[in-house]
Amino acid sequence: MKIHEYQAKELLAAEGAAVPPGKVVKSVEEALAAFDSFGGSAVVLKAQVHAGGRGKGTFIGSGADFGGVKYLTSREKVGSVAKTMLAFPLQTKQTGPEGQKVSTLLVQKAADIAKEYYLGMVLDRASGLPVMMASSEGGVDIEEVAAHSPEKILKEPVSPELGLAPFQARKLAFELGFKGDQVTQAEGIMRALSKVFLAKDCSIAEINPLVVTKEGCVEALDAKMVFDENALFRHPEIAELRDETEEDPAELRAARSGLSFVRMDGSIGCLVNGAGLAMSTMDIIKYHGGEPANFLDVGGGASKDQVTEAFRILLSDSRVKAVLVNIFGGIMKCDTIAQAILAAFKEVGFHVPLVVRLEGTNVEAGRNLLADSGLDIVTASGMADAAQKVVDAARKKN
Ligand code: ADP
Ligand code: MG
Repeated sequence: MKIHEYQAKELLAAEGAAVPPGKVVKSVEEALAAFDSFGGSAVVLKAQVHAGGRGKGTFIGSGADFGGVKYLTSREKVGSVAKTMLAFPLQTKQTGPEGQKVSTLLVQKAADIAKEYYLGMVLDRASGLPVMMASSEGGVDIEEVAAHSPEKILKEPVSPELGLAPFQARKLAFELGFKGDQVTQAEGIMRALSKVFLAKDCSIAEINPLVVTKEGCVEALDAKMVFDENALFRHPEIAELRDETEEDPAELRAARSGLSFVRMDGSIGCLVNGAGLAMSTMDIIKYHGGEPANFLDVGGGASKDQVTEAFRILLSDSRVKAVLVNIFGGIMKCDTIAQAILAAFKEVGFHVPLVVRLEGTNVEAGRNLLADSGLDIVTASGMADAAQKVVDAARKKN
């Protein structure tokens, strides 16, 4: 689960990290009042959306020459820019072509930046530990730095029990080139980042950029956090920060029914039980020249209602040209799936071809139910046969 920049900064500030003063607003009037409250000094207006790359984004259809982060010095400009930001969808390289509606702005006191740095924490699968990453190449895409000059990214493994040790923070601060008092300030922000990351079960937490101002202060100007969904039950205060308007409606709907669903870009809808089988189903669809429209794991013991809801979600996607049901019945019974297919047929109607491969518990009963229904269902034997049939069906439908 992602949260907004202003929320991430509040979590960091609560652990002692320095962030520039800011006000969260939802209207032009509030934006103007926030500008006034900073005594009319320069501010940065920042669109609050979960997607990154806001600074380089565009407001679709507005004709404006700014993105989701704009430095402003006059009251008039604050008014007109806030109006545009709240009226047009913001497109960044992370939003997709339709962009994202902006309903909240952060009016932040502008920092006089001397230098930008990157500071982040992720789970490093290779070492099985959280790792703090830092780079003096901040502000820009850290992925670019990682791809072209990985030696510019410093890394410190962090103990999940003890957190970032003081000597580790000092080492990073020295290696980044901080001097004098800035070393202590940078260490404070690193400790805050490590504390939030570990205490709140983050999977990613980033400060990009971390800056040194011309006055010599070290501050977190931007922050992004992603939380482990499976640990959210331990953090009701984090779960409350969820902004459903930022999430994919189909994924939200699936999550409410306890289904693991991830939207992809292809045309073949997949309904599978078990994450491993779901992954291999996507692989074999690609192997046969198709593109999956989604990952969907209905789980080991899904009910008829859950499976029917899964069909509704798949069939409501206009890009889906064919559906493949691939079930290996262990705990899940094949006749339950067959009943759900028949229920979905009755309720939503299938406007695209359906290919079904069933194996395992009660497979005969399941197959008989489908055969006796008289419905237009393509049955398949084995994964390869199923993939071939569904790819052909999707192609014909195009
Ligand atoms: P994003 O990463 O989504 O583009 P950022 O918050 O990182 O958004 O802003 C992009 C750039 O805008 C930063 O790298 C920084 O140069 C500038 N910026 C952001 N906030 C401020 C601020 N409060 N004062 C001055 N410049 C800022
Ligand atoms: Mg940023």
